[in-house]
This record gives sequence, structure tokens and C-alpha cells, in this order.
Amino acid sequence: MSSITADIAIVGGGIAGLSLAAAIGDRSSVAVIEAEPQLFHHTSSRSAQQMQPTYGPAPVRALTTASIPMVTARAERAGLPVYVSRPLLWLQYDADRSHLDELLATVPGLAPIGADEAVRLLPALRRDLLLDAAIDSSAVEVDVPLLLSWYREDAVGAGVRVVPGARVTAAERIGDVWRLQAGDATIEAATVVDAAGAWVDTVAALMGVRQRGLTPKRRTVAVAPASRPVDPAWPMAADVADRFYFRPRGATILASALEDEVSEPEDAQPREEVVRTILDRVDAATDLALGAPVQTWTGLRTLSADALPVVGFDADVPGFYWLAGQGGYGIQTSAALGRVVAADLLGVPHGIAGLDDLLPQLSPARF
Ligand SMILES: Cc1cc2nc3c(=O)[nH]c(=O)nc-3n(C[C@H](O)[C@H](O)[C@H](O)COP(=O)(O)OP(=O)(O)OC[C@H]3O[C@@H](n4cnc5c(N)ncnc54)[C@H](O)[C@@H]3O)c2cc1C
Repeated sequence: MSSITADIAIVGGGIAGLSLAAAIGDRSSVAVIEAEPQLFHHTSSRSAQQMQPTYGPAPVRALTTASIPMVTARAERAGLPVYVSRPLLWLQYDADRSHLDELLATVPGLAPIGADEAVRLLPALRRDLLLDAAIDSSAVEVDVPLLLSWYREDAVGAGVRVVPGARVTAAERIGDVWRLQAGDATIEAATVVDAAGAWVDTVAALMGVRQRGLTPKRRTVAVAPASRPVDPAWPMAADVADRFYFRPRGATILASALEDEVSEPEDAQPREEVVRTILDRVDAATDLALGAPVQTWTGLRTLSADALPVVGFDADVPGFYWLAGQGGYGIQTSAALGRVVAADLLGVPHGIAGLDDLLPQLSPARF
């Protein structure tokens, strides 16, 4: 039975919790409480590993644009490469091109390139089906395990106490302090940050906080060999109608059919029919003729009703802070969002260019 006292208890040892811990650990006493025996067991280790500045709603794009140089700076300190350039091709297959036109009109950094150029860049694409294309040349693939290890290392190096194998199951507010029960541990902290991913509403409820309808949704990835040579430098390809995306992963192909099925918070596992759909859709658009997958995984993307993150103090319950709803963008936004939240918790300006009006847009008060 251990008893821990901190200024801030972060519930959830995923990328959200650890990027915040790394950003605030040297200015506050912080404990990260994780239910699983290991950090990063859930969605944070199940992504497609992309950071795409033109992907997602405007606040997400701003966070991603701010995050990329922060991760670059961390990589320079470590003397290790963390990115591979992986331009993102948006592919137009349907006669109704409103979605591509809207992307081109509203998203700075996207360039129209046409179908011929898309096929030149990614020769596995079937030219006969493709109507048009656009490219985001600033997108990168990020080494997520390395990034996660840096967040953990920076947090621990700053004095953050990491408590794995401790699921928060009970909480009470005593005066100005929360007392959390988590496995064998009791944690007392004035502020609790709910960064519990798919369980974020569950944790809110057990703390007596009104839930915000944060909904976990399944998404499955398959990694499969192709029947033709794969160039590891090919761009990533994404159908603007969200039927598939794929990219090289070494000599194999990593792909998804972007299913969006609502789920309970759980350790999600792939389903055979979804994996089949992934292979069928990629095969229909390419000459890859994918073979049996060598790896598959499913993660839960947790979304609010407007698909923007939910970040900030709860207006009704003192000392409760939301860090939730990163959906499909939790990797690419983590560096900047961690620092913005750290500054918000400390009541100081974050000083990050382009993010001045961010927090009001993400406020939990909008639900
Ligand atoms: C297939 C797929 C592809 C994706 N691709 C990308 C991508 O390319 N780029 C990108 O930016 N994003 C991507 N994402 C999204 C990204 O992975 C998520 O947004 C991000 O990982 C969410 O991180 P998190 O820390 O909020 O959640 P998690 O990693 O799930 O962490 C939450 C943690 O809270 C813990 N927890 C829950 N309840 C409790 C409790 N009661 N007590 C203590 N701990 C608790 C859990 O055990 C868990 O470890 C993808 C997601 C999926 C599924």
C-alpha cells in the first residue's frame, strides 16, 4: 500500500498523459497513474504513426504544425532521427469532388497535382479509376515508440512519479484535495487531469463529473506483403471519401479501411471481416495484390460530438481537468498540446505561435 502526494495527478499513461507530464514535471509535483502494468498499452501504441499538418480540423492542424518542430528539436537533442518524410496524397475517385475541393479551398499547404502526377509518385495506384489528387508534402511518419520513450524519459527525468498497474477506481474530494484509490496506491492531489483515453468519461463519472459524450470508436490496421515490389519511399495515399488509406512500411503495406464503429472502452482486437475489407479496398485501387497480413491491430479513437479535443478545467467540479478526445490526432498534436495544457494548469502563457485562440475552442463547457 503506497501513499503518494502530488500537486497534479494525471490519470492515464498514454501519449496524452506523458506528453503533459514531460512538459510540466519540472514546474510542479506530478504523478501519472496508469491502469495497465505498462505505459502506452492502448491507443498510443496502435496508431498509423503519421503527423500530417493538413489532416483534421483547423485547431488540430494548428497543433500539428506547432508540434512538428518541437519533436524535431527533441530529436536533435537526442541525436536520433525521429521522422521519415511521408507526403500525403489525397485521392479523388468519385464524380462528386466537393470534398477534395473543400480541402483545397480551406487547408493551407495542400497542392493540387492531378491523377497522372499521383500515379507517377505512387505507381501502384490504378490510373484508370483515379480522377484527381492533391498532396501535402509536409507530412511525416514519426517513430512513435521513440517519441513515447522520450516523453517518458523527460517526465521521469523531471521528477514525475509514474505509477503503473494502478487503475483508479474511486475518488473523493476532501477539502481542496482529491483522494484517488488506484490498486494498492492512494494518491492525493489538488488537481486531477483526466487523460484516460477511451475511459475518459468513465473516470469523469467516478469522480462525480458530468460526462461529455466522449465516444470510443474502433479503427483497424493491417500490415501485409504485396505481390509487386514496394518502394519504402512512396507517399501515403488516402481516399478523400475515407474508404482506405495505405502507405509502405518497409517492404510491406500498412493499410486501414477507416471503420468507425462505436465501442465500449476496452482492449480492442481486430475482426476478420474488417481486415478482409482493408485488403479488398486497397487491392481494388492498386496493383498491390496484398497477401495474408503479417500483423493487424485495432485501437480506439475517442471522439467528442464535434470531433475536436476536450481540454480544460471542468466548470462545475473543482480541480478536475479534461485532456480528452484527441480522436485520430493524438500523436501529431501531443507535443504542442502537452505544453499548452502545462501552461494552462500553471496559469502562465504558453507562448506558442499560432495557438492563441486554441483553448476556448476546446473547452469542455461547449458540451
Ligand atoms: C488505427 C489508429 C491509427 C491512428 N493513427 C494516428 C496517426 O497516424 N497520427 C495521430 O496523430 N494519431 C493517430 N491515431 C490516434 C492516436 O493514437 C490517439 O489519439 C492517441 O493515442 C490517444 O492517446 P491517449 O493517451 O489519449 O489514449 P491511450 O493511449 O489509450 O491512453 C489512455 C490510458 O489511460 C489508461 N486508463 C484508463 N482508465 C484508467 C483508470 N481508471 N486509471 C488509470 N489509468 C486508466 C489506459 O489504460 C490507457 O493506457 C490513431 C489511432 C488508431 C486507433
